[in-house]
Parts: sequence; C-alpha cells; structure tokens
Amino acid sequence: MNLFDVYSLYDVVPVKGQGCRIWDDKGQEYLDLYGGHAVISVGHSHPAYVGAISGQLANIGFYSNSVKNPLQEQLAEKLGKACGYEDYSLFLDNSGAESNENALKLASFHTGKDRIVAFRKSFHGRTSGAVAVTDNPNIQAPFNKNHKVTFCDLNDSAAVEAELKKGDVAGVIIEGIQGCGGINVPDDSFMKELESLCKKYGAVLILDEVQSGYGRTGKFFAHQWNGIKPGIITMGKGIANGFPCGGILISPEFEAKKGMLGTTFGGNYLAMAGALAVLDIIEKENLIQNAYEVGEYLKANIPALPQIKEVRGRGLMLGMEFNCPVADIRKKLLFEDHIFTGVSGTNMIRLLAPLCLKKEQADVFINALNNI
Ligand code: PLP
Repeated sequence: MNLFDVYSLYDVVPVKGQGCRIWDDKGQEYLDLYGGHAVISVGHSHPAYVGAISGQLANIGFYSNSVKNPLQEQLAEKLGKACGYEDYSLFLDNSGAESNENALKLASFHTGKDRIVAFRKSFHGRTSGAVAVTDNPNIQAPFNKNHKVTFCDLNDSAAVEAELKKGDVAGVIIEGIQGCGGINVPDDSFMKELESLCKKYGAVLILDEVQSGYGRTGKFFAHQWNGIKPGIITMGKGIANGFPCGGILISPEFEAKKGMLGTTFGGNYLAMAGALAVLDIIEKENLIQNAYEVGEYLKANIPALPQIKEVRGRGLMLGMEFNCPVADIRKKLLFEDHIFTGVSGTNMIRLLAPLCLKKEQADVFINALNNI
C-alpha cells in the first residue's frame, strides 16, 4: 500500500530530539526553529515530559469519557491559573481543527444563528467547518463551500460591523496572529473594536490561538497583548508538546448541555499527562518569558539583507518576508546549515521554534542568514 501522496517532503528522517536539537538517521544534528509547526513547546523529549507520559502508560493508557478522569480536572485547574481564565470552562479534544469546529458549533448553539465572519488570509484547519472559515478555496471541497461564511479584511472593523448588523452572525473567528497567512499581527485597536462589536450585536468572538497561543508570543495567548476577553479560545499544537491534544476555553456565559459536544479520544490519559507536564515545565523554566526575550532578540538581530523586506511577529512567532521565493534559501538552511525553518506562502520564512530556544542558538541562525 502507498501513502496517499499529499505532503511535499524533505529527504530528512529525524530519529532523535533533545531541546531545540534534532538528529537524523545518519547522525547529522540540526537546529529546530520550526518546532514541528509550533507543536514542540517545551523542547524535544524533555525528561519530565517523557517520564509523565511513560509513567501514565504503565498505569492506564486509555478509557472513555464515560468515567471520571481526574487528570482532566487537574489540567483545567492548572491551565486556568496559568492563562488567567479561571472562570472559563475547558472542553478537551484532539487537534486545532477540531477545537475550531467545536467553537463554531458552540457559537451557533449559543446564538441560534448560522453565519460566521472570518478574515482574509486566515487558516483554521481542515475539518468541515474549520476549512470553510479558512480563506483558501483551493483546500475546500464543494461540500465545505455550503457553509455560510463571510470573509472580511483584517483590521476592517467597518466591514465586520456591516455584517454583524444583518443579525444572522453566530460568531467571528480570528487568529491571535495569523500564522499560515503570513504572520499578520492584528491592530490592537481593531481587536478591541471586534470585542465590543461582538458584544453589541450578540455574536461570539472566537480567538483561534492554536498556533499563537500557549506562550509562543510572550503571553499565554496572543490576544492578551490586546487586553481583550473572547467568548471562546481555541487551542492545539503546543498543548501537549506533540502528543495529539486540543481544547477550547469557554466563557461562563455558555451553558453546557449533556451530549452537546463529545469525542472519543479528547482528554485521554496520555494527552493529559503530557499536557500537565507541559504546563509544569513552562512554569518551572519560565518559558513564556524566554520565548519573548529570545524572540525579540532574534527579531532585533535579523540582518538587514537587501532580500528581506520585513520581519513581523511577536516572541517566537516570527516571519521574514523576502522579496523573492524562499524555497532555495530554506533548502540551503536545511541541507548546508542544518537548520529547520517553516514557511508562509512562497516568500516568507516562518520561525516557530520551541519556547526553550537559547540566544546562542538564535545566533547560529543569524550567522547562517548572513551567508545566504
Ligand atoms: N488554527 C491555526 C491557526 C493553525 O495554524 C492550525 C494548523 O496549522 C490549525 C488551526 C489546525 O490545527 P490542526 O492541524 O491541529 O488541526
């Protein structure tokens, strides 16, 4: 049987990881500034994380959501404290797309309405609703295009208000910082207006923090830079450092009804053990502050090369927009300098390093950039 051939792959086989370093099957070491696409939050194979998951597996690996799972309650308590949303509730699922799917559904249940406002250049995942609110018709099948979605330009609050006024909008979904669409940081004033417009017209503000959350930008969630409080916050990626896990934080205004949301694997023991270890490590190693400091250090020291038009982002969510396609530059960085990077579109190198990146490691990248 062949694999369904949907991914463009680099010819590298990682077999071992530690912190921000990876080794391939030939023993070559790499610096990881991509974090498996913002997933590796506390570093590869952190001993406390490995111990937590393997210790849990030795006791019990899985049971269903039909019995009590105290690890879920522990996570809710710890996460509430860590992110400052202690009065919100937590629903656990398995991925970023599923989190967005649940958020959209909940907004629709809550308001009784069925249209969603989303933004140009957004990416929210590949499941039915999540892909429908993603601004990329090429990844939507005809089936997905049946959802009622209206796209507005980022930072255009007049356009959003014109849609909300029509009275049929259940929710507005926005990324804390747009990731796949090119590291676009929404204006502070726009985020505040969005919050008050959603309140005024009774729509749910959904903050997709799948990529920008969990400490990446130097605050627990990127929207906390804007001082706003959404109705629903969606999470994924770094929540369990690579063990599949997602979740949504739900404001106290929402009423839970039995059977309203559900999933087989969401909140399972191994994901919970991983997620609890992640929060412990983030706290003990002060990784949110580290992400901010090292990210800002990187941003300030990226050389002013003629090919680089702009550097955008916050903390360890950074994009370097070039005035040319970056495919060859990324190949050189990977195969000659042994540095993993990410990409947005054709002209942007995107950095989503583990939150434990050190300044010396940032310097390795800066030196390599000087030689592209
Ligand atoms: N939302 C954002 C902002 C993302 O960047 C992604 C993935 O890149 C998703 C949602 C989808 O997450 P997943 O691939 O875990 O379904």
